[in-house]
Amino acid sequence: MAVNYLETDVFIVGGGPAGLATGIAVRRKGFRVVLADASQPPIDKACGEGLMPNTVATLKELGVNLGPGKAIPFRGIRFTNEGQVAEGAFLESYGLGIRRTTLHETLVKRAADAGVQCLWGARVTSIAPCQVWLDSRQVGCRWIIAADGQNSQVRKWAGLDRGQPEETRYGFRQHFRVAPWTDFVEVHWGNDCQLVVTPVGPDEICLVVTSRSRKVRLQKALLQFPEIRQRLEGNSAITKDLGAISALRVLRSVTRGHVALVGDASGSVDSLTGEGLGLAFRQALALAEAVACDDLTLYQAAHRRINRPPEVMSRLLLTLENRPWLRRRTIRALAKEPRLFERLLAAHAGTFSPWTIGFGNILKLGRRLIADSN
Ligand SMILES: Cc1cc2nc3c(=O)[nH]c(=O)nc-3n(C[C@H](O)[C@H](O)[C@H](O)COP(=O)(O)OP(=O)(O)OC[C@H]3O[C@@H](n4cnc5c(N)ncnc54)[C@H](O)[C@@H]3O)c2cc1C
Repeated sequence: MAVNYLETDVFIVGGGPAGLATGIAVRRKGFRVVLADASQPPIDKACGEGLMPNTVATLKELGVNLGPGKAIPFRGIRFTNEGQVAEGAFLESYGLGIRRTTLHETLVKRAADAGVQCLWGARVTSIAPCQVWLDSRQVGCRWIIAADGQNSQVRKWAGLDRGQPEETRYGFRQHFRVAPWTDFVEVHWGNDCQLVVTPVGPDEICLVVTSRSRKVRLQKALLQFPEIRQRLEGNSAITKDLGAISALRVLRSVTRGHVALVGDASGSVDSLTGEGLGLAFRQALALAEAVACDDLTLYQAAHRRINRPPEVMSRLLLTLENRPWLRRRTIRALAKEPRLFERLLAAHAGTFSPWTIGFGNILKLGRRLIADSN
């Protein structure tokens, strides 16, 4: 069989959001980039489809503008638990709800405009230093970037796949034709699951249920949320339910030699943080800087800085998920202190420094958690 030979500076395995963003960022540094993905665009994936304000800002840095018609803004997050409602608006910014396929299409176009050579329907089957094999092609390159998602093969081939995820949960997503009833992303806490509602269009919402059990599918979960069930009555589902794994995975190292991991391949956070895409885009920018400096240790350090806050937030949210009494008290306390909720949210969304939360406010929350025991 004749083998096609290609040469490039940077080869990217995986054309999901992380691979495309990295392609755009590295291309802007002047390198030749070839990217391969086993699927055909637009690639769909189970996702809450909410972009936090800092994710929207990073996309702008990458030259990706999600104008009206593609996405719709939301202005904060609302938690509901056992009849308690706590909501926080983003300070001075907004998030965007966008269908995953629309985001993918937009990134594919931006990557093509930037000069990234994309090979769709092309599965990478093995790598060696400065070599990649895909189907009947062989590609010579200086850097190999793995953006091949949660179950990254490249991570295994490069010997970077150490340990198991800290936590593994399951998510199922479906879209419904119904006008959003709010401009907040809603997180409804149930007994054994959470239901996240994101407005993604003028007459469309995205519903995601996450749980530790893969048996908790959307229809079953809705039994715990009669208010949402009522809102959906007579409004049809417009997509099939699609599942994915939501894992908290922290890797010790995300580079080896001339191989670097990015996006979910480089570790992931729980989907409730709404930060997976933002991490991928921020990592993409940092990785491009490191490639331009010919020094991947810069990326290793930046990756640690970028990932740490959402990892901490994942652990906090998973603690609430696991302990109903603490969740009850926390959401009640946040409902009574909306300003504090806003500051916590702004720190999480990267629009305010965590220091602006203030020691006094933390004390106030602590007092409420202790006092509000009934
Ligand atoms: C239930 C759920 C809800 C979520 N909600 C949100 C949210 O609201 N907001 C948010 O920011 N994040 C959210 N996330 C996280 C977000 O979806 C991920 O962080 C994001 O998809 C990571 O993108 P990626 O490009 O790294 O990986 P992926 O999107 O998984 O892309 C990997 C790509 O690699 C390709 N590939 C794999 N192996 C090969 C190979 N050998 N050769 C060629 N191609 C290959 C695949 O075809 C795929 O296209 C959610 C996640 C889950 C599970």
